[in-house]
Amino acid sequence: MISTKESYLDRLSKKRVNLYINGERIENFMEHPNIKPIIDSIGLTYELANKDEYKDLMVAHSQFIDEPINRFLHIYTEKDDLIKRLKLARLMSSKLSTCNYRCVGCDILNALYATTYDMDESLSTNYHERLKNYIKYVQSNDLSVSGALTDVKGDRSKKPHQQDDMYLKLVEKRDDGIVVRGAKICQSGALVVDETVVMPTIALKEEGRAYAVSFAIESGNENVIYVLQNNPYEAKKRETPDWESGNPYGDRGTFLVIFNDVFVPWDRVFMCEEYQFAGLLVSNFSNIHRYVGSGCKAGFVDAIVGASKLMAEYNGTEKASHVVDKIVDSIKGIEACYACGLAAGYESVQTKSGVWLPDTLYANISKVLGLPALNKAIVNLADIAGGICVTCPSKRDLENPEIGKYIEHYLGGKEGVPTESRLKLVKFVEYWVSGPHLGGAIHGGGSPVTPDIFIKRSVNVDEKKKLVKELLGL
Ligand SMILES: Cc1cc2nc3c(=O)[nH]c(=O)nc-3n(C[C@H](O)[C@H](O)[C@H](O)COP(=O)(O)OP(=O)(O)OC[C@H]3O[C@@H](n4cnc5c(N)ncnc54)[C@H](O)[C@@H]3O)c2cc1C
Repeated sequence: MISTKESYLDRLSKKRVNLYINGERIENFMEHPNIKPIIDSIGLTYELANKDEYKDLMVAHSQFIDEPINRFLHIYTEKDDLIKRLKLARLMSSKLSTCNYRCVGCDILNALYATTYDMDESLSTNYHERLKNYIKYVQSNDLSVSGALTDVKGDRSKKPHQQDDMYLKLVEKRDDGIVVRGAKICQSGALVVDETVVMPTIALKEEGRAYAVSFAIESGNENVIYVLQNNPYEAKKRETPDWESGNPYGDRGTFLVIFNDVFVPWDRVFMCEEYQFAGLLVSNFSNIHRYVGSGCKAGFVDAIVGASKLMAEYNGTEKASHVVDKIVDSIKGIEACYACGLAAGYESVQTKSGVWLPDTLYANISKVLGLPALNKAIVNLADIAGGICVTCPSKRDLENPEIGKYIEHYLGGKEGVPTESRLKLVKFVEYWVSGPHLGGAIHGGGSPVTPDIFIKRSVNVDEKKKLVKELLGL
């Protein structure tokens, strides 16, 4: 079913969540300046699904409930689903200039779909059917789903079982379900969704079986606590008026999510102690998420390139050859990343479960290309904007009855461009230059060393050596 932003808001407003922001417990979270932008971002995923011009990307047909559904809930049983998923990521990021908060959940559902099939086949469990029922449930109700895998980890040199609950773990198995304890960090969107699917963050061995858990929870579980990250942009959003913080959709709402002995009924459990399959689940997820990440970064750079051009026009530098070259430079880098993502989609492989997974090599290389491409585009934007991109006075200075006239006069740009428009754009540039997205590009989908591991595994270098030996008769 395709529902509306209004029904999403209605469901959300009925939730009671344990939320803490900047040391305070928040009761009415819907209108909170740090939370509302996240709600609006997710809201856009509902709004666009109802607009004819976006339906091709936003809406898919469910093979499970035989109805149109939001593509963020779709299982990719056709290769084309995967390609459209990439284009959807680009569309959303270009419109929001931040996270849409539904990618990780969608990617975990697809990774689970492939993995539970293999798990059942090998261990005679029945997780795949259970997952399908859960997928039917979220699709039939058009629920928003976020995804949680990153554990707090503690001492990185120690394995999960060597440090109690620094990785989320199973603490009790009951007739009616399981009880879990631990904490997940950097969780995009977390409480502002209907549901969150949870999975392990690393491959596990037998001694780590208690950490091999995957399940779904509804937002509003009484034993789950959410703590909002508090980067400078979140503080700014609370303290300053509208356009001061750059992006109306906020920066990147992520949370520390504490699972304080949370009960999960069996029909929501998709892995419980099957440590042998944790690694496969993680690699299936990483494949999809790095692939989708190339579309996400391409969308961000679409906005950055747009801001670069507009800033140049406002400053009167749009005809300078180096400015034009810098914009082309930003486009070159990101389109190489996106093309690599597309290649991963076109070279995708169908798993036994029927779901298509992107080609591992290209998906991981797209992650490798994405970071310098986004970085370069931000540097080019800052260059074009000038030093004001990190030194701009406040909107309140512009509004001040004593000094407003000076700000209006001295911070104006090209004739005909209102100073307020220029400063509004400058704050958007500032958001990219000093905001959280570069950190997101570094660590989102795994720290930079992780794609290298997959790339090493997926290329047979000895085959290439053989080629040269054959060629030279060695
Ligand atoms: C903006 C943003 C949004 C995010 N959204 C989500 C989300 O929605 N859901 C989600 O689950 N996660 C999310 N993440 C988390 C992201 O996946 C992680 O940040 C990433 O996997 C890195 O994990 P970490 O932050 O614990 O860093 P670490 O794993 O601690 O990495 C830091 C450094 O330590 C190195 N390192 C780590 N462990 C070892 C070791 N054992 N041996 C040697 N070196 C090691 C790494 O290679 C890296 O260089 C998000 C992150 C960001 C920044």
